[in-house]
Amino acid sequence: MIVVMSVGATEQQANDVRDLVKAAGLTPHDNYGTQRVVIAVLGDVGPQRDHLMSKLNLMPGVESITPISRPYKLASRESHPEDTIIEVPGARIGNGTLTIMAGPCSVENRDMMIATARAVAAAGATILRGGAFKPRTSPYAFQGLGIEGLKYLAEAGQEAGLPTITEVMEPGQVEIVARHADILQVGTRNMQNYSLLTAVGKAGKPVMLKRGYGATIEEWLMAAEYIVSSGQPNVILCERGIRTFETYTRNTLDLTAVPLLHHLTHLPVIVDPSHATGKRWLVRPMAMAAVAAGADGIMVEVHPNPDEALSDGEQSLTFEQFADMASAVKKIHEEVRTLIKDPFAMTGPVRVDGVSKH
Ligand code: PEP
Ligand code: MN
Repeated sequence: MIVVMSVGATEQQANDVRDLVKAAGLTPHDNYGTQRVVIAVLGDVGPQRDHLMSKLNLMPGVESITPISRPYKLASRESHPEDTIIEVPGARIGNGTLTIMAGPCSVENRDMMIATARAVAAAGATILRGGAFKPRTSPYAFQGLGIEGLKYLAEAGQEAGLPTITEVMEPGQVEIVARHADILQVGTRNMQNYSLLTAVGKAGKPVMLKRGYGATIEEWLMAAEYIVSSGQPNVILCERGIRTFETYTRNTLDLTAVPLLHHLTHLPVIVDPSHATGKRWLVRPMAMAAVAAGADGIMVEVHPNPDEALSDGEQSLTFEQFADMASAVKKIHEEVRTLIKDPFAMTGPVRVDGVSKH
């Protein structure tokens, strides 16, 4: 449940609410709005629920109590009806503009990073990506430049005037990655690495959480809940395809995630057509479709010479291909942004979670 304090409520009244919540063995979690304090009640309320709700309702300074039916309390739109807008130096995500994250799969050296940063910035990218710690299927494949790569990414971002995002693979890397990058990325393989989620949640930087390739939407949102409940409200969700029986594409891009997530959560949603398809020629149409479905942005791999890339060359765009794709998605965004609305509101009372399979 969430406790909405009235506009004129005092800090003492909010403290009394927090004390009552703690006395019930639960955890109060503040969401600060511009005008009022909203206190989410976290934990297993159990049979004391009705009793606690009526007690809270009677407390001075409390305006209303809203039950939250979803298990991802802080990530749910029920607890936070407005969209979360994330600010990093030089960019905003989720505010209705189109976020374009672009850059190589791996940071390979300083020159390629700076050349890529300049090219993607000139074509309209808003955030620079590049992997320094790489999760590779084979232990014999290029594992990334590590800290050296973080430095090249940061320098290239500065050079091109773009904020940066890069993957962090384990709790021990969080501090150093947070020192060099503006957004921390948790990759598909680590979506349910709960100690990593907790660590990035405490690092003081926005986090992009990629969908686990075998994860349901609810598991994904529960993973986001770990980050938010650890102290980081600025979480971006990135759909990057899930594993199905299909072999012609690397993964299967689940674009239904976009409107579903926009309905279920206030967090911004990004789509990665590069890892979803694994094929360069499929990136452009899937990026266009993602933006048409209402995604807040896309993440795309770009390389100065994809055929020579140390990782994911097959799905990486050349500078020219990226510029062409960026101009197409920007046009689509201009067209669709006023048309996007919550489709649920138009269909009436239907279930969001669970479908009968017949
Ligand atoms: C990446 O974006 O660099 C990456 C490894 O993606 P994913 O975790 O989606 O495979
Ligand atoms: Mn990659």
